[in-house]
Amino acid sequence: LPEYAFIGRSNVGKSSLINMLTSRKSLAKTSGRPGKTQLINHFLINKNWHLVDLPGYGYARVSKSAKKVFQKFITQYFAFREQLVTAFVLVDIRHKPQPIDLEFMQWLGENGIPFSIIFTKADKLKPKAIENHVEIYKNVLLETWEETPNCFITSSSKSIGKENLLEYINSLNENIQLTSP
Ligand code: GDP
Repeated sequence: LPEYAFIGRSNVGKSSLINMLTSRKSLAKTSGRPGKTQLINHFLINKNWHLVDLPGYGYARVSKSAKKVFQKFITQYFAFREQLVTAFVLVDIRHKPQPIDLEFMQWLGENGIPFSIIFTKADKLKPKAIENHVEIYKNVLLETWEETPNCFITSSSKSIGKENLLEYINSLNENIQLTSP
């Protein structure tokens, strides 16, 4: 089955987003404690695709050796996933583009892994500020990329962006079915 990986810095709101997408509150445990999702979790959605929950990266209070283990984990995942269609990199809409996220996107690009950006916690900003922050992000990306990736604006607490994301994934799934023999 096609699979879609969700990844981002710890505390970016990944568990909450996954709960929103799966509509099952109990599935991915959210917590105020960053760095809690440590293993790769798979969720079967609509019986036709897998949502892959990757560990959060860049948690400051994790030791260097733990970071290395996480990094290895993540790179191993991407090295061997043939079913992976797209990675979704989550970033907090409130923050300026962070080097760790930009470096990770760069790494995805260098390894030929398509990705989209999911902006989280959109309920924390006014519409004008959201527009502004997305624009800033895109401009930073355009310094190194020829085009900007797909961007999705979401809020798990206000249930914003769910339909757009699911529609996008479904459209990619349909394309896969059309092109496979
Ligand atoms: P994870 O570490 O990336 O899995 O992040 P969590 O989903 O556990 O969320 C981290 C913190 O951000 C929690 O305190 C959540 O309640 C909060 N949070 C997550 N999503 C949203 C959102 O859309 N809006 C707001 N206001 N807070 C959020």
